[in-house]
Amino acid sequence: MALKPVTNRARVAGDLKDRRTNERRRMVTILDRLGAEFELWRRYTDDPFLLLIGTVLSQNTNWRNTRAAYDRLVTKFKTPRQLARADVREIQKLIKPAGLYRMKSRRLKELAQIICQRYDGNFGTVLRKSSEAARQELLSLPGVGYKSADVLLLFGARRDVLPIDTHIFRISKRLGFAARGDDHEEVRIKLEKLVQRGRRGEAHIFLIQHGRRYCRARNPLCGECPINRFCPIGIRRAKRARL
Ligand code: SF4
Repeated sequence: MALKPVTNRARVAGDLKDRRTNERRRMVTILDRLGAEFELWRRYTDDPFLLLIGTVLSQNTNWRNTRAAYDRLVTKFKTPRQLARADVREIQKLIKPAGLYRMKSRRLKELAQIICQRYDGNFGTVLRKSSEAARQELLSLPGVGYKSADVLLLFGARRDVLPIDTHIFRISKRLGFAARGDDHEEVRIKLEKLVQRGRRGEAHIFLIQHGRRYCRARNPLCGECPINRFCPIGIRRAKRARL
């Protein structure tokens, strides 16, 4: 019996599947290499409300400033009820190292008040919902964007999500895992499909460290980069250097 000719559609589907498999393998190799280079750090707390404070403080500043402000604040106010009752000027003073302290102090107090009213002061109830329901609820809070919501889900509820920060957003495009014009959600969906279940938290941590040390926004250190053999830009630069 004659074999059925392979239709174009079947061929295209097969090519796509192969491509996805190759990209997944490339991602595994990249994460393994980065795992040999960087350490998995633990988050400073597992408490959902304190994590929320940390994500607000970290906006538009570096980790050192965030940590300084966070430590000062939580020595005085560490529960939603305490923060909801706190004087905004006192919050401002405590969180000054994080920058934008006027806006952030108002936001923190507002969030604490909402948590007291909506969840009777128990922010953990949000994170016990299904991932999608919790994400939608977190996104409805003032100042909580996609990255913050996913950080809370990952570190506060141990969900298998991959929060996309500015480093990961940039690196995904440079590595060709996302298209140049992709927005935050498109990058996240593409990356979560490529990173196997159980490794998304690890991917988040390693890619951030990679962006800080090698794949910087300006002047990435491609020559020293531990994954340059798996990156289209690294490969192009190496070829040019050999010419
Ligand atoms: S080769 Fe360059 S662009 Fe590619 S991941 Fe490394 S540092 Fe980033």
